Amino acid sequence: MIKPGVNLGILGSGQLGRMFTQVATKWGYNVCCYSPQKNSPAGKVGAIEFVGEYTNQIQLEKFLNSIDALTFEFENIPLPALELIQKHVDSNVLVCRPSTNSIMYAQNRTKEKSFFREIELPTTKFFSLQSWDDYAKIQNEIDYPCVLKMNTFGYDGKGQTKFSSKEELEEELKILNPIDVIVESFVEFDKEISVIIAQFLDGNIIFYPPVENVHKNHILDTTIYPANIPQNISDLAIKYATKLIRSLNHVGVLCLEFFVEGDRLICNEFAPRPHNSGHFSLDGANISQFELQLRTLCDIPLNQELQLKPCVMKNLLGEDLLQKADNILNFIPDPNYRLHFYQKNTAKTGRKMGHINYIGGDISLKAFEDLL
Ligand code: AMP
Repeated sequence: MIKPGVNLGILGSGQLGRMFTQVATKWGYNVCCYSPQKNSPAGKVGAIEFVGEYTNQIQLEKFLNSIDALTFEFENIPLPALELIQKHVDSNVLVCRPSTNSIMYAQNRTKEKSFFREIELPTTKFFSLQSWDDYAKIQNEIDYPCVLKMNTFGYDGKGQTKFSSKEELEEELKILNPIDVIVESFVEFDKEISVIIAQFLDGNIIFYPPVENVHKNHILDTTIYPANIPQNISDLAIKYATKLIRSLNHVGVLCLEFFVEGDRLICNEFAPRPHNSGHFSLDGANISQFELQLRTLCDIPLNQELQLKPCVMKNLLGEDLLQKADNILNFIPDPNYRLHFYQKNTAKTGRKMGHINYIGGDISLKAFEDLL
């Protein structure tokens, strides 16, 4: 067990790093965060900030030398940074959970989806394109509409476009330089769900049953726990998430996102860390996903089932704060609405500024009708 008092590190210093820091400092750990940002959400709740670009190997080395164990708040980390981290792990001076291997799979859609195929998790038909020649070989096999996604460094729908014809797709491909994308079939899903799951060093697994997610403009808007899905779909989602976390040998928290289409379950992508769709666990569970991140990092077992209650999570974006600040504040007096603000310096359209968890029992989106 990694005991309280030591220095834990987190790569990234945004809202996920902040919520990890809040749990870890409460338990007596020191937290250091690394990101290009000063005065960050994690820094504001007590993480010691190491400020530098992810490509700045000298600054990164200083950070790694200051910590005993490392975890992550995001996966879009440049490869040289991951290699430096791995060097520290290989010399036995750093514990890193999850491994850099999990991060490498999650940050590259081709690797991620090929891995799904390899371990027989159902996923959308997709093609990886690195050149115009690659496209020429498979052009007649693409279904329309299709979705073009950047192979790396995409999030919240960024770097992602839907095309309804071959001509439109080709126009776009002509503009790309270099070509490093995947093209996948568009899924007419009924619902989107996700499973947050954690694996401990000894192989013990803990998960929250599936949640249901509603996206607006490709950004998560609301999450409902539990998802309104048949038991067999719920069981299957948990089975797939378990298979993934075991196959990756991933020690830590992981989120697997799915499309539900009729009675089919299609794996879309995974995050090798706590996820926005797990924020309900801060108020709808006795153990949050960030506590699970801390426990799996520090090898602190959990010898108990999770205790859960229905919860609806609503994200608060920059535009909500700019246009509806008073409506949001009206919720504070009611203890069924639990507010979480991330103390980001500037509210911008599409930026996640906070969220509200509703734990008043009626788990429908009506809980937020008056708000937004
Ligand atoms: P992603 O970046 O892959 O998580 O995509 C963000 C969101 O875009 C998903 O949660 C879906 O709402 C939508 N989306 C992504 N891929 C597809 C697809 N192949 N078919 C339909 N919708 C998609």
